Amino acid sequence: MRWSAIPLGLLCGSAAAFLLGGIYQWFVDWMPFVYFNFFASLALGAVVGGIAALGMRAGHCRNVWCAAFVAACCGILGGVRSFDVARGQLREELLEATGSAWLREALESTGPGTYDRLTTAHGWSIADHVIARRATGWVLYRGGIPIRGAWVTLVWILEAGLIVVGAAGVARAMAREPYCAACGRWCREQRFKGRAPVQLPDLLAGLDGKDVRQLAGPAPDPATHSIWALHSCPGCEAYACVTVEARWNEPDEKGKPQAKRNTLVEHALVNPAALGGLRSRLASS
Ligand SMILES: [Zn+2]
Repeated sequence: MRWSAIPLGLLCGSAAAFLLGGIYQWFVDWMPFVYFNFFASLALGAVVGGIAALGMRAGHCRNVWCAAFVAACCGILGGVRSFDVARGQLREELLEATGSAWLREALESTGPGTYDRLTTAHGWSIADHVIARRATGWVLYRGGIPIRGAWVTLVWILEAGLIVVGAAGVARAMAREPYCAACGRWCREQRFKGRAPVQLPDLLAGLDGKDVRQLAGPAPDPATHSIWALHSCPGCEAYACVTVEARWNEPDEKGKPQAKRNTLVEHALVNPAALGGLRSRLASS
């Protein structure tokens, strides 16, 4: 890892957090289904984390915890940014609703004078936003009972958790990708759709490393095909590894076919002498 990895990751991730955090907030404000919003939270985290991880990769960061931590920080930044945009949105909404009895009742329930303070046009702090949002809450669907108070806090906690999980998860996976230490380069990935994993053992000859032994075990049945991801160094072609995933369909209780997948080997080293042969066999299978 170079010293530049962390500032590069923070720079890329925080730029993404600023831009996407705003877009995210406009989206969840417009999207009326709260459960869909949770997917959006995960997606915001994943994209911000992925962009932060690209910066970290440029700095050759292969430390998964470091990558996950930097990405999680950027994810939190995205959450804060969305909170800030939400503050502007809610203030506008409340100024429009000024004078209505429900608003006075909701805001006064949090303390005397809150209504007057929050409905006069002045800048709101984040703390004011928290008070106003917890008091007014959200309606989950048209005509539904609004969720307020502790439920609002719970939604925020869930939202923040999903953003952090999405960001850290993607960055961690990206930092684990194969890297040629001799050349200092990230490997290039080629994907092949292979035949049924039953035919895997005859490809063993080209593979090295302890992980490969799993390949010789009984093949999953009824597997229909396998996905091979071949990672090789673009510099030397001496460093290469392979990941094999079996994919098949299995009927569920109602007899509907469900797509299943199972990783048989992950990043198993490929003998350099056998790399060319393996590649051409995969390409023709
Ligand atoms: Zn190399």
